[in-house]
Amino acid sequence: MSTLEIRDLHVTVETESGTKEILRGVDLTIRSGETHAIMGPNGSGKSTLAYSIAGHPKYTITQGSVTLDGQDLLSMTVDQRARAGLFLAMQYPVEVPGVSVANFLRTAKTAIDGQAPKLRTWVKDVNAAMARVQMDPEFAQRSVNEGFSGGEKKRHEIVQLELLNPQFAILDETDSGLDIDALRVVSEGVNRFTDQGDRGVLLITHYTRILRYIKPDFVHVFVAGRVAEEGGAELAERLEAEGYDRYVRAAREAA
Ligand code: ADP
Ligand code: MG
Ligand code: MG
Repeated sequence: MSTLEIRDLHVTVETESGTKEILRGVDLTIRSGETHAIMGPNGSGKSTLAYSIAGHPKYTITQGSVTLDGQDLLSMTVDQRARAGLFLAMQYPVEVPGVSVANFLRTAKTAIDGQAPKLRTWVKDVNAAMARVQMDPEFAQRSVNEGFSGGEKKRHEIVQLELLNPQFAILDETDSGLDIDALRVVSEGVNRFTDQGDRGVLLITHYTRILRYIKPDFVHVFVAGRVAEEGGAELAERLEAEGYDRYVRAAREAA
């Protein structure tokens, strides 16, 4: 049993008009075996939360803690966080010209395991993971994400998720920009990951539609840099019907 614990997290970024506080006291605990959905309007700080946990240098932690089984994640490098069992699928996956998907995956796997995967089984594993998300095997030789469609980038994120098989996965809008077939394929990948039973997922999303395929154990409404409400899967259905308006107004009045 593993626990990812976020306590009173405050995060700022430097903008042209000065320092701006984006996260304003986030509390969240994810245990292995649990799927949590974070849902909130655009600009509420969801990606900032994902990047802050993963260790993006643009985001300054001014208060609070993030721990993995009691270990301080915030004092770790990005690589150490990955080796500790954390994975982030970014909302906008970066293109890496000149680095093939095959090399990228192998390098990531080697860095996380501390040793290179056995070549014979590895090639088979990569091909199988790509086949499961219906990616043509020729993608293995293409530069990472370069010229990939939105859907291809997200499928590639799922290939990484399956091959690296972390303890905790943060999936930032893995559903955005997907057509219905890609959404199903990507959701099935996430479900295969959680079906192992002891993995934790933080699924960040703007829309409720992915939650028809992936059933969260907990739903957190995220507004203005903090969790405004928490509930079970039924909370997502209420959001679908009512929208975020009520929470946004309440946050404004409190500010
Ligand atoms: P969400 O993912 O919920 O749409 P973000 O975390 O992307 O929200 O952004 C939250 C707020 O923080 C927005 O107002 C955004 O403009 C601002 N922000 C996020 N990252 C940066 C950055 N690197 N520089 C300046 N502003 C940022
Ligand atoms: Mg579960
Ligand atoms: Mg975002």
